[in-house]
Amino acid sequence: MKKLNKRTIAVHGGARRSQYNEVSEAIFLTQGFVYPTAEDAEARFLQAGPDEFIYARYGNPTVAMFEDRMAAMEGSEDGFATASGMAAVNGALTAMLKAGDHVVSSRALFGSCLYILEEVLARFGVEVSFVDGTDLAQWEAAIRPDTKAVFFESVSNPTLQVIDITGVSKLAHAVGATVIVDNVFATPVFSRAIAQGADVVVYSATKHIDGQGRALGGVILGTREFIRGTVEPYMKHTGGSMSPFTAWMMVKGLETIDLRVRTQAFSAQLLAERLQGHKALKNVIYPGLDTHPQQALATAQMGAGGTVLSFDCGTQEAAFKVLNALNIVLISNNLGDAKSIATHPATTTHQRLPDDQKEMLGITPGLVRLSVGLEDVEDLTADLLGALG
Ligand SMILES: *Cc1c(COP(=O)(O)O)cnc(C)c1O
Repeated sequence: MKKLNKRTIAVHGGARRSQYNEVSEAIFLTQGFVYPTAEDAEARFLQAGPDEFIYARYGNPTVAMFEDRMAAMEGSEDGFATASGMAAVNGALTAMLKAGDHVVSSRALFGSCLYILEEVLARFGVEVSFVDGTDLAQWEAAIRPDTKAVFFESVSNPTLQVIDITGVSKLAHAVGATVIVDNVFATPVFSRAIAQGADVVVYSATKHIDGQGRALGGVILGTREFIRGTVEPYMKHTGGSMSPFTAWMMVKGLETIDLRVRTQAFSAQLLAERLQGHKALKNVIYPGLDTHPQQALATAQMGAGGTVLSFDCGTQEAAFKVLNALNIVLISNNLGDAKSIATHPATTTHQRLPDDQKEMLGITPGLVRLSVGLEDVEDLTADLLGALG
């Protein structure tokens, strides 16, 4: 059969039907599985077959459907589903690293990712060098012959810097380092990260994959050897696995992800264009705008600007005034949700960063991050223009 396109895989990929041949994927809400005989139990513990399960922390049919669907969409050999996006980031890194290893990471990271790279890994004797991820010369200077892994968010939160996956991967692969990409802002719809050179792709499924703000989840995607040989033993013994009920929600979320994300990105582009140049704003940041320094890279890498934009109201007071004047857009901190959500990073998601780091990362007092939802774009425009007025 012809290789299916991503949008078809999002609807059908990984489906496993029970003896009832149900249309909608079943939830196998079971922690355990019965073995016909003691010998079967022994054999399965020794080596479980591809469709044989032992314990839900190790694997479960509904979770396997989600893993297989995600791997097929991303073009990776395999995947491991995790309890949250952070369990995925932590699992991908700590499963493969040991004391004495060296990692290079971009500096512009989600707060919890920074905590893992700066605090947790250091505590276990892993050395991490931080670079400006948009500057390939800095990656080149920091990557050493003994570098084990590089880590970055392909589009950074909340300042939407785009990192060149192909460029960084070439430098990392020259020394045999593993390229781990946190790809949340690119979304599974726009991502071609594996084809572009990434070895491991990590998603918080809490964001666009669920897309309806219901559940935490994550996934690690990579080669079969990395996922089954390195990630699975670590995750199944340390307890960060995804629950079957969550996996079922994520599987159903994937059925509509293409429609949702494309609509959200279309609205985000339109809103960014409409807000750009507004007299109440210092600037508008969106990878799809021709004023974005990496618009060409964003277009080549993702084919779109994504579902999130940021704008600077000048001061915290002005930003709060705008947030408090919104009627449709909610003040919250998730992203990728059907509901549009505005966040003030400096006082919430990035509150704990010292001021000098905020300044270095461009997290200014007036910055607002807007995750564009599925509402009518004319209503969103009116809400934003009203609040800015
Ligand atoms: C949200 C997010 C995470 C963490 O995901 P959770 O599901 O909240 O644990 C990691 N990386 C990025 C870029 C994110 O936006």
